[in-house]
Amino acid sequence: DYEKECPPDKETLGRATWTFLHTMAAYYPDKPSTMEQSTMKSLLTSFSQFYPCGHCAEHLREEMKVDPPKVESRKELSWWMCGMHNKVNAMLGKDLFDCNKVDERWRDGPSDGRCD
Ligand code: FAD
Repeated sequence: DYEKECPPDKETLGRATWTFLHTMAAYYPDKPSTMEQSTMKSLLTSFSQFYPCGHCAEHLREEMKVDPPKVESRKELSWWMCGMHNKVNAMLGKDLFDCNKVDERWRDGPSDGRCD
């Protein structure tokens, strides 16, 4: 029960956060309105200000300066998010993820239907 749970460390927080971010991108509109695009931009800017791992957030803000969020469509945002995650993966020495598989991983599930 909750009394035995510890507050999240950087890894647990990271996994939960990537789940949220990739899933949000996977369900973002194909044709977002101008308003939806600007709301998504400000969500990501605010997120990078308050993400509760200080040095992770700082790194994210730097990356977002070089490569600003692409909010023109679901596909663009999903690819952009995948690219951001891969930059962190590379920095941490983890395997890179094939961004062609992003919908399968975060929206559609594998073709064998075991997640349906
Ligand atoms: P995670 O990297 O958490 O990935 C979870 C799952 O996402 C994977 O199992 C895989 O199925 C899928 N996945 C992997 N790569 C991609 C991709 N490119 N696109 C789509 N799906 C993918 N940790 C640090 O130590 N230092 C940091 O500076 C740091 N910065 C971070 C910045 C942000 C914005 C976030 C959200 C997390 C950050 N983390 C950082 C945490 C780190 O990224 C990992 O979440 C953590 O190390 C746990 O890694 P993991 O191997 O369990 O998988």
